[in-house]
Amino acid sequence: MEKKGVNLFTQFAGKELLYEKNGIAGVLTEDKGLDKNGKPKDNFTPGYELRAKVTVLAEGPRGSLAKDLVSRLKLDGLNPQIYGTGIKELWDVQPGRIETGYVAHTLGWPLDSHTYGGGWIYGLRDNRVSLGMIVGLEYKNPLFDPHEVFQKFKTHPFVRKILEGGKLLRYGAKTVPYGGWYSMPQSYVDGGLIIGDSASLLNSQRLKGIHTAIKSGMLAAETIYEALCAEDTSAERLSKHRDRIEQSWIKKELWPVRNFHQGFHGGLWTGLAHAAFQFVSAGRGLIDPMRVEPGYRSYANLHRDRTLVDQSARFKGDGKLTFDRLTDVYHSGTRHDEDQPCHLVVLEPDICGDRCVREFGNPCQYFCPAAVYEMTLEKGAPKLKINPANCVHCKTCDIADPYQIIQWVPPEGGGGPNYEGM
Ligand code: SF4
Repeated sequence: MEKKGVNLFTQFAGKELLYEKNGIAGVLTEDKGLDKNGKPKDNFTPGYELRAKVTVLAEGPRGSLAKDLVSRLKLDGLNPQIYGTGIKELWDVQPGRIETGYVAHTLGWPLDSHTYGGGWIYGLRDNRVSLGMIVGLEYKNPLFDPHEVFQKFKTHPFVRKILEGGKLLRYGAKTVPYGGWYSMPQSYVDGGLIIGDSASLLNSQRLKGIHTAIKSGMLAAETIYEALCAEDTSAERLSKHRDRIEQSWIKKELWPVRNFHQGFHGGLWTGLAHAAFQFVSAGRGLIDPMRVEPGYRSYANLHRDRTLVDQSARFKGDGKLTFDRLTDVYHSGTRHDEDQPCHLVVLEPDICGDRCVREFGNPCQYFCPAAVYEMTLEKGAPKLKINPANCVHCKTCDIADPYQIIQWVPPEGGGGPNYEGM
């Protein structure tokens, strides 16, 4: 690769973008070798400035650099981005329980009709099964627990029969950007492009985005080649990337589902009605464009006192078919060096121990599928405790926190879950 002029910097997380004039000029990688208090250890190496004529951001959903770029340069599309969180397990099952290539998608149960989401079951080779559940991050009850709902999904007689006598192999979680065409940010700036999930190119109806991500990368390469030949990497020149997307099959695929997810904001039944109207009108439906607010604004205020919500009755699972979050985290194989700065930055921790207890009962204890957030009492006062080593890098907390004070930043390169085979 290097002979062809390609350098791969594995295990170097991008910490910040290098902003210049009206755009970007590259990436600053993280400092390596800081202890948990941010002090240099013996192996300290400062981050590198990687400068480029064009920087392409392909960070998946809720990329930390893309988030900063979109907010700083006000690149948001017509709608803000909205998300779902997906929780997944991989199982080895008894022979004959499922056919290779079997595909099932479900809607609803065990979710109520006000909460958007559904499950999947895929039969893989060698008696392996992938199954999981995605839930829209715009539910009302702040004490709703997506992990628990997924565990209950496995107790349906149909799913139970497939898994009975099998063995849990792996666990993981990840968010998906549901917003679609109307949540696409402006994806070009001076010296930079945004592609893939970071550019809202997921098909929210089919929940597929790898093909559009690859295509948007190919179109970025064509655009950049032309820009470099013309010695012009301005936003105006790079906007040809957006033109290419408009003229490609990406638009043909995403335009008819441009209002799909927004239609479900009123619940399952109105969502199905909207979907039917959209189907017969090539995506237009009854309202076009359908506008949405960020999902974290949907939480109902619980109007509580400052007593912490009792956690003793939380779902524990039976240890065979259903599991608690820590057992699942073990199966994610996640690993982080414990002696490094916490990669979950809470900007205003005082809110957690007071306002959030009273208003929402600390939803971070519920939406995080890895038991990273815990409310404890310190000298009688509620205080947030963070267990960053458990994190499976789903980004749900960065998205679903009601005060938007949790910032997920990349941990020291190489740390995180082991998603081999997932
Ligand atoms: Fe996901 Fe945040 Fe929990 Fe990590 S801390 S597992 S990113 S919700």
